Parts: sequence; C-alpha cells; structure tokens
Amino acid sequence: MIRVRSLRWRLTAFYLGLLSGLLILLGVTQYFVIREVLLRSNAEVLANDYTALQLAFKRQQQSSKTTTPIQRLLLSKQFAQALTLSNSRISVAIIGPAGLIVATAPATLTPDEQPPQLRTDQYQAALRGRSRAYYLAPIGDPPTTYLTVLRPIEVSARTIGLAQLSVPTDGIEQTLRQDRWLVLVGSAAVLLLALLLTPLIVARALRPLNQVARTAGALAAGDYQQRVPGPHGDDEIGKVALAFNEMAGGIEQAFEMRRQSEERMRQFVADASHELRTPLTALAGYIDVLGRRDSVDPETLQSSLAAMQRESGRMTRLVWDLLTLTRIESGRGPTLRPLSLDAWLAGALDELGLQDEGVTATRQLAPGITVNIDPDALKQVVNNLAQNALKYAPGAEQHWRCFAEGSRAAFRLEDTGPGISAQDLPHIFERFYRGEKARDRAAGGSGLGLAIAKSIVEAHGGTIEATSPPGAGATFTVWLPRVVEPAKSST
Ligand code: ADP
Repeated sequence: MIRVRSLRWRLTAFYLGLLSGLLILLGVTQYFVIREVLLRSNAEVLANDYTALQLAFKRQQQSSKTTTPIQRLLLSKQFAQALTLSNSRISVAIIGPAGLIVATAPATLTPDEQPPQLRTDQYQAALRGRSRAYYLAPIGDPPTTYLTVLRPIEVSARTIGLAQLSVPTDGIEQTLRQDRWLVLVGSAAVLLLALLLTPLIVARALRPLNQVARTAGALAAGDYQQRVPGPHGDDEIGKVALAFNEMAGGIEQAFEMRRQSEERMRQFVADASHELRTPLTALAGYIDVLGRRDSVDPETLQSSLAAMQRESGRMTRLVWDLLTLTRIESGRGPTLRPLSLDAWLAGALDELGLQDEGVTATRQLAPGITVNIDPDALKQVVNNLAQNALKYAPGAEQHWRCFAEGSRAAFRLEDTGPGISAQDLPHIFERFYRGEKARDRAAGGSGLGLAIAKSIVEAHGGTIEATSPPGAGATFTVWLPRVVEPAKSST
C-alpha cells in the first residue's frame, strides 16, 4: 500500500502534480495560439480574395461608366454576387456609407436567410478605417459561427462602403478539435510514462537515504561499526551519507573511549581496594591478637600500637593520594599564572627543607624563564620527586636545575642513588606501580606519587620523563610550555 508519508511518494506526487499543471498550461496556451493563427490566416485569405476581385470588377466596369454609376455598382447585389464566385461558402454583405446592409449575396444560405450581421458601431468604426483583422459572428439556431472580414470599398481613394465577407468556422473548429484530442492523448501518455518512471527514479535517488536510516537504526541498536555503504556521489545525498559515516566514526570512537575509561576506572577501583585491604587486614590482625590475650606485656603492646599507627598512617596517605588524583583528573584545570621558574622553584625547595633532612641538595637555576603554572599544584610535583629521592636514594645527593630549550622550559632532579632498573622504568608513572626494590612496604609508598605528578604536569600542558643510565642515579625532568613575553609578576 502507498504510504503517503514516505518521501518517495510525496516527491512522486509533487512531480506528477507539477507536470500535470505544466501540461495543462502548455495545452491551453498552444490551443489559443493555434486558434488565433488559423483565424487570422483564414481572414487574410478572405481579405486577399476581396482585393483581387474588387480590382477585377472595377476594371471590367470602369471603361464605359462614370464614377457615380461605379459607386452604385460597387454597392450593389451584382458586386456582392461577384465576390462569392471565388468560394461557394462565402456569404457577402455590402454595407453602405450609413453603416447599413445595402446588398447581400448568400452563397449556400437559403434566400430568406441572412449573412451574419455585426453591430452598427463595428460597421461605423470600420467605415472610419478602424476595422479589426476579423470578427466572429454567430448566426442561426443552433448557432454557426462565421469568420467575418470587413474590407473598405474605395473609389478614388474614398471609402464609400464596406464589403463583408464571411465563411463558417467549422473547418477551423474541426482542426482545433483534432488538435485538442492530440494534446489530450499526448499529455495522458506523458503522464502515464511519468507515473511509471518517477517512483523508480525517486527511489533510486533516495536509496542512500534509506541506507542512512538503516545504518542509524543499527547504530541505535549498539552496532557502532555499521557504515553507509559507498560509493557516495558528489550530490547532496552523497554528502549526507559521507557526513553520516564521519559522525558514526565519531560515535564509535567516543564509545570506545568510554569503554576504555570505564575499564581504567574498574582497574583503578580494584587496585585501590587491593591497596586498602592490605593495611586493613594488618590492623584487623593486630586488634585480633591483642583482643585474644588476657594480658599483654607493655613491650608487645607498644610494638603492636606502633605497627597499627604505621598501617593507619599508610592508609591515610593512600586515601589522600587517591583523593588528590581524583581531584586532578575530574576537577577543574589548574589556575595558571605567569611566574619566573627559578624564583618559584627556589621557593618550593626552601619549603621542603631538604637540608634539615640531611640531604645534600644543589641548585643550578637559570633566571629569566617565565612559565604559566599553578604554583601550589606544581609544588606537589617537586615534593613527590624529592620524597622519592629520599625514599629510594637515601643519603644520595640531589641536583636541582631549571633551564629553557626553545619554546620549552624545564626543571630537573638528578640524584646519585641506585637509579631505576630498566625493567621498572617504563612503568613507574602507572598508578599503583611500585618498583622491584620498593615492594617492601616499609620503604615504598602506594605507587601513586609519580602518577599524581604526571597528572599535574599534563594538566599544565607539559610532560614528565625519567631516565636512569646504569650506575648514574635517577633523573626526572618536567617540561613545561614557556611564556616568551616577559613575566608581569613573580613570586
Ligand atoms: P611510591 O608511592 O611507591 O613511591 P611512585 O609512583 O612515587 O610510588 O614511584 C614509583 C616507583 O618508582 C617507586 O616504587 C620506585 O621503584 C621508583 N622510583 C621513583 N623515584 C625513584 C628514585 N629517585 N630512585 C629510584 N627509584 C625511584
């Protein structure tokens, strides 16, 4: 059944409607044009016939008569009859100077019948030289239409009357009837052909749109790999199909990213739970042991309490690290402002008080480098790097530098500790990753310190990298985009 709401059938109906309208307009216009041409050419034939006959009649009569008898003759029945000789269907009326019929010569009409008669004002106008190319005059019942021509009867360049020549229009009407029939049959044939072909053409043109609809349905059902099959034309529908495929690609990518992010989140939650479970189990163990004893000697109590304190401290640090990481990754970006890198780094190192911890820390801070940073957020990076050096390179020296390279600025920490094994190096920025030697919980942290540092640096549009040539300690470099204009303020 035809669905009127489908675009295919609406386009077909519109096209056929338009075509019908145009065919009707064309048919009507050509009908009237042909009718006019036929009437005019027949009227011209009548007028030419009259001119020739009048000349011949005048020549024949002129030799013996004076002007006045010729005038009378030209207004007579004899002249009227002479005019009917060329065509038996012509009926003639001679109109006198007063605009009245003075003689008639019906050819095929019975004697009491009259040739068609026009209105007096039309005769008067024609006598004054303003006759139309032709007139249409009905006569009889049922009426027969006559094509009528009025020609002036002139003697010595003076109009003395009118000759009215009329022929029935049945011949013309017959031609017009045939023409009408031809146009009707032709138009019907064109419409029938259009009715058969248009739905096929429209369906073919709309096929890519149907494919787009099918693909959209598949996407909605969760099949993100579906695409509108090619080849796509250069037309509007082809462009729609191409744009749709691009959109589908974007959706697939977005869903893949979401899947990966959910996977990461699941892994993160699993790792975090695992990390929390260890100190919790330890705490529960100590509580259990202490609870089961009737009496506990002070030494055991002290050592148990100290261990419980360590475990709860570890848990607190872990929870804070988790919170920090979550805040950086899900919260607003850092609040950046242009600062002088050396001044800021010097301030951050002073706050750490490394000397108080007995660490030999040197500084080599190049001045005049401006960076756009959130000073407090970035201090945490300095802190994490320094704390790692303290933990994994105890007693080693720390060399802090800042410098610029082209459009980048950097600060770097080199320690003279044992360095990082080639096995650990690619993983140390991953969450919860602890190096081989750091797995001993007493020394190691939660494995989040460098992950937090990486997140903070990346939120600044920078990168962090670690190198550790064998036997040469560990080197951490934080790269930041450099501000080339002079800094407006500094710490
Ligand atoms: P943690 O919280 O365990 O310190 P981090 O993410 O800060 O975790 O560090 C990850 C791993 O990188 C550490 O377990 C350690 O093995 C290694 N590491 C980090 N800094 C140093 C360093 N200065 N020297 C040697 N190893 C280091």
